[in-house]
Amino acid sequence: MDWLTDITYLKGVGPKRAELLNKEIGVFTVKDLLYYFPYKYVDRSKFYTVQDLTTDLAYVQMKGEIVRIQEEGHGNRKRLIAKFYDGVGTIDLVWFQGLKWIKNAIKTGQKYVIFGKPNFFKNGIISIPHPELETLEKYEARTIRGGLQPYYSTTEKLRKSFITSRVISELVAKALEILDNIPDFMPQYLIERIGFLSLVEALKNIHFPEDTHKLRLAEFRLKFDEFFINQLSLIKQKKLRTQKIPGYIFERVGDYFNRFYHEKLTFELTGAQKRVLKEIRRDFKSGHQANRLLQGDVGSGKTIVALMSMLIALDNGYQACLMAPTEILAQQHYNNFIELLDGLDINFRLLTGSTKTRERRIIHEQLMKGELQILIGTHALIEDTVQFKKLGLAIIDEQHRFGVAQRAKLWQKGQTPPHVIVMTATPIPRTLSMTLYGDLDVSIIDEMPPGRKPIITKHVKESQRRHLYNFINKEIAKGRQVYIVYPLIKESEKLDYKNLEQGYEHIVQIFPPPKYRVGILHGQMRPEDKELEMKRFARGETQILVATTVIEVGVNVPNATVMVIESAERFGLSQLHQLRGRVGRGGDQSYCILVTKDKLSSDARKRIDTMVSTTDGFKIAEMDLRLRGPGDIFGTAQSGFPFHFRIANLSKDGAILQLARNVAEEVLREDPELSRPEHELLKREVDREIKRSPWGLIS
Ligand code: ADP
Ligand code: MG
Repeated sequence: MDWLTDITYLKGVGPKRAELLNKEIGVFTVKDLLYYFPYKYVDRSKFYTVQDLTTDLAYVQMKGEIVRIQEEGHGNRKRLIAKFYDGVGTIDLVWFQGLKWIKNAIKTGQKYVIFGKPNFFKNGIISIPHPELETLEKYEARTIRGGLQPYYSTTEKLRKSFITSRVISELVAKALEILDNIPDFMPQYLIERIGFLSLVEALKNIHFPEDTHKLRLAEFRLKFDEFFINQLSLIKQKKLRTQKIPGYIFERVGDYFNRFYHEKLTFELTGAQKRVLKEIRRDFKSGHQANRLLQGDVGSGKTIVALMSMLIALDNGYQACLMAPTEILAQQHYNNFIELLDGLDINFRLLTGSTKTRERRIIHEQLMKGELQILIGTHALIEDTVQFKKLGLAIIDEQHRFGVAQRAKLWQKGQTPPHVIVMTATPIPRTLSMTLYGDLDVSIIDEMPPGRKPIITKHVKESQRRHLYNFINKEIAKGRQVYIVYPLIKESEKLDYKNLEQGYEHIVQIFPPPKYRVGILHGQMRPEDKELEMKRFARGETQILVATTVIEVGVNVPNATVMVIESAERFGLSQLHQLRGRVGRGGDQSYCILVTKDKLSSDARKRIDTMVSTTDGFKIAEMDLRLRGPGDIFGTAQSGFPFHFRIANLSKDGAILQLARNVAEEVLREDPELSRPEHELLKREVDREIKRSPWGLIS
């Protein structure tokens, strides 16, 4: 039998079961079945005796006979107890449900193999509730017994049709027995050099491990496989892109850049900013389209780097654009540019959803003529009516909110694409950025501008709220400003707005006018009103801004020193970190106060503790990954985290990923097209992965 054979033809399956396996767990072929891995193993390699039982054993297997069966208790509390003697001592097997059935099924004097989790009671009695139980004869007749036993996840429907974890394991065992050949795509030289198990060995041991050592080797091989194919396909796609897609060449650094640098820049660039600018300049001269991810924590100074890159494009006669995810942020970039570009005689404008038709028309016209040099805006930038004469550089702020298709809409088919720089303040753990952005070049600004004081983060419980208001009062008295943020979560939007409004009223009562001025900002306000509120806060006309997370991204008010986050337990770590980044932007000591209810779940507690103990975005991202898993962080629907691994785990297997990346790079260096005979099967796997890849090739 071939492993691509339809699962229907595996002995013991047939059309009915095949349909269930297709629908319920996506198993269509024998190969699919072999790649349906156990989610856990239970050690049934040894038999324990009563003497061996200790409180730290989770599950135990024992052999013995039932010597007495008795019922105890009344009504709801009725239970069945079987005294089980293993030749050394006696324990209780206990059932609380299905008493009648069990009572008929078990016999005294019969030898059994039992399996379960022992409980220890103060009076010295050891009992195992609802043990798995099998007669010794039956146990000895089984094909698979002893060792580490695989457990497979099943579904309600599968179980109803008696396709249990055990049945799946029997099917897998059968398949492994009768397959003639499992083709291994890993070239022999790598198997030898890295010391992998062959694919056959790996698959045998992932299902039925000979021992824990072999299991580890099997996991290593199969995890490596997934990462390896993934990395080969990403690196290959990137090579295709850089070889096939030409890019504009920006040779010169001219007047715009130089005048800005000498006349406008009031501070020295950090070492990291200089390094990143160099990396970008190298892209500009390479003759290939740049696709660079610019990663840097909030406040690390990405905007200046973006602006200076744009000035290089202008110096070479090209246009540039800057796209932001929200109207507030686009507006803020625009205001920032007004200040930064003052006197440089550069034509730049703002285009958002609320830009008036007349202004819009001017923008369209000037863009086509090439008179408009820089366009700043939101999604409105990628509408079909927006046509540049010569777009040389597109910068996308907070890229995780834009999909690939949107990126590609910035230019037309057949045209030379602009260089693309995507900026993100979401510190992405290295393991993730390697897979998520494996086809982009990555620059990291890992140094903060000098003179920043680390933000102090405190946890305040509901019952300590009064201290919070005293503290806010003191800061305001010093002339500082305060954000108070309420959660806004899609499912309960109405309720959340109610919370926000109540919160606002409450704050106004505690900080009443005219002494205090409190503003409110949320996503349902009209853009003009939002902008007005933001402006009032930025000018210092309001001291407290009560808001939803609309202020999360990019908002910059250096005089704001306190960020209060209400119901902080409802926020994810990366969001808390983003919000905290709104303060600490000036020279004054800043604070982030996390207000939670008194009692917290253990996960919420860990998030809060993490925030209190570190301001390092990368550490926080790692923790976030560990607590939530990559699936949640990059929920497929939301931002299109494109990869699904069966066995590899991005939060735990960073070292294997790194190895897979290194080996993939090396293999492609030696054989870029994977055209050597020893790479034939490997190429097939990689091509399949590329076809499936949601990134595809943008061209
Ligand atoms: P980001 O976009 O990375 O969050 P910004 O570019 O908005 O950060 O920069 C945050 C603040 O730091 C801005 O006010 C900016 O002018 C300032 N800044 C940027 N680079 C430097 C530097 N090298 N030295 C001092 N201040 C800087
Ligand atoms: Mg920014």
